[in-house]
Amino acid sequence: MTPSVQVKPKACVIGWPVCHSRSPLIHRYWLDQLQIEGSYERIEVTAEGFPGFMGNFARLGYAGGNVTLPHKEPAFEYCVRTTETAACLKAVNTLWVEAGKLYGDNTDVAGFLAALDQEAPGWDFHSGHAVVVGAGGAARAIVYALKLRSIRRILLVNRTKARAAAIAAIIGPPVEVVDYSGLQQSLTKASLLVNTTSLGMAGQPPLTIDLKALPTEATVSDLVYVPLETSLIKAAKTRGLRAVSGISMLLYQAVPGFERWFGVRPSVTAELRSVIEADISAAL
Ligand code: NAP
Repeated sequence: MTPSVQVKPKACVIGWPVCHSRSPLIHRYWLDQLQIEGSYERIEVTAEGFPGFMGNFARLGYAGGNVTLPHKEPAFEYCVRTTETAACLKAVNTLWVEAGKLYGDNTDVAGFLAALDQEAPGWDFHSGHAVVVGAGGAARAIVYALKLRSIRRILLVNRTKARAAAIAAIIGPPVEVVDYSGLQQSLTKASLLVNTTSLGMAGQPPLTIDLKALPTEATVSDLVYVPLETSLIKAAKTRGLRAVSGISMLLYQAVPGFERWFGVRPSVTAELRSVIEADISAAL
């Protein structure tokens, strides 16, 4: 009798460009810590090459993978089924294969909520409204997450108002679109401010905003994680507010994918965080 060959599960991150992705570092760290014989690779797939790659995904032997820009929305179309979250957002960042078929989820939602729950427990107990700045792909996930938590009022502020209106149309109440010029005023009595724009990212201008109108119990969250501490996060800390930086969401959004592909739910530890922080700092 020939001995059965154990197939080592493999996963990947697909994007264009994908060289900046920290996902390989996160998943390889967990594979190593949990002594799982599997692999996680980075694959550059252009928009033109995407249909061919996705058509072959299950046959390439992947257990699944992450999807990053610009493929989150196109990848949704290749899934036979998705979670309710991904179906609402019409975008996936996590894929897995079952019986040769492709399934998808959008774990930015769970990742964002886990980051706030861990680092600002009780953030959703306050009665004030939430202000979300930005209306790109990430904003859609954040607004959906806040609605899941029954936040009673979500003010969505974006430079291009039509993009905010498009998200409000998809998610529905309690999302209200506010003019970009009304950003400063929207902070009065807010319990939560989330920056989902690329402002504050290394090489980009900062998000110019004065936090003094925020109540002392407010929480400030910035999705940007390069640099690790944006000027918004610094200003929130200086003002004595609770501040949650983008690296937390980056780490927590990775947990469900790893569990699906490799069968073990990994933990977000201080050591993992310091490994990723060191990599980000070294790249600046
Ligand atoms: P996106 O779809 O390209 O959206 C970019 C957003 O930034 C838009 O709302 C855009 O406004 C706004 N923006 C860009 N430049 C601006 C400027 N000069 N003034 C005002 N607004 C400006 O990007 P995304 O995928 O949503 O990602 C946004 C950020 O979130 C990125 O920094 C990304 O790295 C981060 N992110 C972090 C995580 C995490 O796990 N921590 C996850 C996802 C995303 P317009 O609509 O007017 O162009």
